[in-house]
Amino acid sequence: MTIVFESQLRKMQFHNTGDEYYIKPEYYLLQNNNKMVLNNLIGKAIQIVHTGQITCISCGKEIKKTYGQGYCYPCFISVPQTEECVLKPELCRAHEGIARDMEYAKANCLVDQYIYLALSGGLKVGVTRYHQVPTRWVDQGANRAIKIAITKNRYTAGLIEVTLKKILADKTNWRKMLMGNDEQYSLVAKKRTALDYVAQQNLEFTAAPDQEYQIEYPVLKFPSKIVSKDLAKEPSISGLLMGLKGQYLIFEEGMVINIRKHAGFHIELKVE
Ligand SMILES: [Zn+2]
Repeated sequence: MTIVFESQLRKMQFHNTGDEYYIKPEYYLLQNNNKMVLNNLIGKAIQIVHTGQITCISCGKEIKKTYGQGYCYPCFISVPQTEECVLKPELCRAHEGIARDMEYAKANCLVDQYIYLALSGGLKVGVTRYHQVPTRWVDQGANRAIKIAITKNRYTAGLIEVTLKKILADKTNWRKMLMGNDEQYSLVAKKRTALDYVAQQNLEFTAAPDQEYQIEYPVLKFPSKIVSKDLAKEPSISGLLMGLKGQYLIFEEGMVINIRKHAGFHIELKVE
């Protein structure tokens, strides 16, 4: 086998080879500044070996385990990327001038936010910063998405999301997402229902355009069962790569590995 990547893992990034509304991700990993395109490995036997080393993706310190997908504990509790409002926008205080890092907050919390619907192993509601479209949806493995509303800051978007959680789920069923059996209905009608519901609250927002987004992932065949692998427990994983969806590599027989969960792990990626 040939080593094609030997570095610290970060989340998978992608280029969109489709267009704005029909997204076709070409995934890659970064090694120094070189891109290693993962789509080219689909249909091939590959091996991922964890060297045993783990380093923080923020400060680079050697660590035994990661917190918040790639951080050492001190970074996890101090960097703006893991602040509470990342997962719970309604807890954002940036609009009151309070944040771990105000410069980061100005670029990420005090900018337009989209409240959206996505089909990713079921229908869910979510919030994303405008510049994270379509990255957020691709990372989740959504097949379809539509913006519901636009707000001026993260806090207000959070309030709308909290309201919508009363009628919609906010979690991805990742196993179902990886089996590729999402319904393929139009999201416009669901969006109307959601908009009507939030319109009854006293919240400040603009309705978003009705344009839907579709995402086509590079997957040869979706599995019918899922076996999730963890490099901390099993340092060598090998098999025939069947596809890429969300932040997952999908192997033959339904073995999957979440790359983002292993951010900070040093690996060797080998190809037959
Ligand atoms: Zn650190």
